[in-house]
Amino acid sequence: MIRLDQRPDPHASRVARVRNGAGVPDASRRAAGSRPVKRAVHHAQCASRRWAGAAAVAIALAVSAARAAPVAIVAVESVYGDIARRIGGDNVAVASVLVSADKDPHEFEASAETARLLARAKLVIYNGAGYDPWVVRLLSASPSNSRDIIEVSGVARRKAGDNPHLWYDTAAISALARTLAAKLGEIDPAHRPEYAGGLEAFDTSMAPLRKKIAAMRGRYAGTPVTATEPVFEYMADALGLVMRNSRFQLAVMNGTEPGASTIAAFERDLRNRSVKALLYNTQTEEALAVRMRSIADEAGIPVVAITETLPPDETYAQWMLSQLDALDRALARR
Ligand SMILES: [Zn+2]
Repeated sequence: MIRLDQRPDPHASRVARVRNGAGVPDASRRAAGSRPVKRAVHHAQCASRRWAGAAAVAIALAVSAARAAPVAIVAVESVYGDIARRIGGDNVAVASVLVSADKDPHEFEASAETARLLARAKLVIYNGAGYDPWVVRLLSASPSNSRDIIEVSGVARRKAGDNPHLWYDTAAISALARTLAAKLGEIDPAHRPEYAGGLEAFDTSMAPLRKKIAAMRGRYAGTPVTATEPVFEYMADALGLVMRNSRFQLAVMNGTEPGASTIAAFERDLRNRSVKALLYNTQTEEALAVRMRSIADEAGIPVVAITETLPPDETYAQWMLSQLDALDRALARR
């Protein structure tokens, strides 16, 4: 368990530290046989030598077993860590940095511990598109020839300035899964068939999600909705929803103040019931977003909670499906 520093949000006095709940691959784990060697010191000289010999064999075995040691992956965003675990299974050891579903990931600031974690990785997966700019800084501070890197925004053919919440785009996620399986096959060719199997299983897990999106698109395409932040935008597009007040959402995401007319337009949409749901990012507590939520409550507009970090103990598909179910219930109410 490591602790990572997080810059306090200027808008709220939030707790400034986040616990990394993910397992960190332990490179310093004691080699098999180290304990007998230690114990042997207390025995007679010859016995000690025998023990040492046995330990040497044990260490040699451990080294040959270590060739099958799991591929150390750092998936900066825990959602990508989940996908890596699904595809890599026992052949990978995954750690994540942005894991807390009640902190604002845009506010994250890396610590020395984060730097060490990234430096040790065999494969680093990070979002890009301006979501985690500190990753590039840390990677270039510890150059390595034996480290592979997957920038998800590149895989998804997005660039800086595009909406960075790429995991709400199922096509981007599928592209990442394919890239990841191929990359793991290059890094660890002995397990290539298993990575191909993992990819197939992951793709199967996406089927209910694709079905749900198609069904909701059939029911709700053209329905106007709004959001406090642009987190859900790619999914709203896939559902055929009409997303209103984008300028407001960008301002809240970037921590800047939207103009008075932008705020007024948002309030009007809620009070006039011109939108059928408000998608509310629960990971930030911007005063303006909170205000919009209470206006929506007063006007009887359903508020649907959205997070940008994978909740612990949920898979990617489960997370997306539970949010879609909540939105489905909200839109069915109109
Ligand atoms: Zn965000």
